[in-house]
Amino acid sequence: MEVRKELLPAEKRQAKPSDENALGFGQIFTDHMLKIDYHDGQGWHNPRIVPYGPLELDPAALVLHYGQEVFEGLKAYWGVDGDIHLFRPQANMERMLKSCARLCIPEFPRDFLLEAIMELVKIEQEWIPRSPGTSLYIRPTIIATEACLGVKVSSEYLLYVIVGPVGAYYAEGFSPTKIYVEEKYIRAAPGGLGEVKTSANYAASLLAAEKAHHAGYTQVLWLDACDKKTIEEVGTSNAFFCIGDELITAPLDGSILPGVTRDSVIQLARHWGITVNERRITIDEVIAAQANGTLKEAFATGTAAVISPVGTIAYQGAEHQVGDGQVGELSKKLYDEIVGIQLGQRPDPFGWVVRIS
Ligand SMILES: *Cc1c(COP(=O)(O)O)cnc(C)c1O
Repeated sequence: MEVRKELLPAEKRQAKPSDENALGFGQIFTDHMLKIDYHDGQGWHNPRIVPYGPLELDPAALVLHYGQEVFEGLKAYWGVDGDIHLFRPQANMERMLKSCARLCIPEFPRDFLLEAIMELVKIEQEWIPRSPGTSLYIRPTIIATEACLGVKVSSEYLLYVIVGPVGAYYAEGFSPTKIYVEEKYIRAAPGGLGEVKTSANYAASLLAAEKAHHAGYTQVLWLDACDKKTIEEVGTSNAFFCIGDELITAPLDGSILPGVTRDSVIQLARHWGITVNERRITIDEVIAAQANGTLKEAFATGTAAVISPVGTIAYQGAEHQVGDGQVGELSKKLYDEIVGIQLGQRPDPFGWVVRIS
């Protein structure tokens, strides 16, 4: 397959954002997008890079009614070598294939998709911002497009990739966040969709997130669906706790999204000789560690924010300060190391960076 290109003439392209400090997250998109179609019998076909614009969908398209959809999120950066860098993009392709399998979406050709994404990023390279903390966010998405109101697996899909410049994810920047432990609503249950990146998980999370925002908190800390004691994730990020000399995160037991940043943190921390355990950790253990002074740090991990330090945990009406309430030493070290690797400022011992030259 060859990617067909229908590119806008220079005079029809938008002006690039003038203030890289005011990019926000996910609000600005570039001039072009990648599209690939699927029909039963034909497979994936007609890959094309075309002007960015609205999709034409039948109002009965299955995705609009029953949520048969998967997506990914990764970033491109200007490396210090002048090349464009992607961070572990193969991991995103693998995860999207797993999401497809769970959502009954046909497998796409992973190497072809990654090559096509790299072509799109190269075409849009002038949109990659250069200020610290900024990047070009890449959002691959697959939606079920067959027009049918019966609940069924679609026979047609659209895979599309949009990209856009983003600034720092959290309005507060790299400073401690306040999180709210949610005890009524859950994000995902065993056997459900928690371990895949699909829209339904985010729909399920909105009400609790609204509640937390109105109460003055940045994110929700999700507990398990069964006994509402075991910690799962923070908002749309993986959760880590540093208690004594142990770094702890939830095991990938089905309801946890296997974050690429989570895996990178685990590998780096082990490389530095830190004891990392993927094990069940309850909110009671965290609160007890806080009370006896052994809870040193808590942070969330994800592509958007990389590391988001947690300064306060609100549970059952009480606020608990994590460590001294400031950005923890390990949080800072991990953030600096991962960003340094992404930009090519630090050695890349695991071969995580993929260059587009
Ligand atoms: C995307 C996502 C993460 C983080 O994954 P990364 O690959 O590190 O970006 C964590 N939890 C949820 C629910 C997510 O959707």
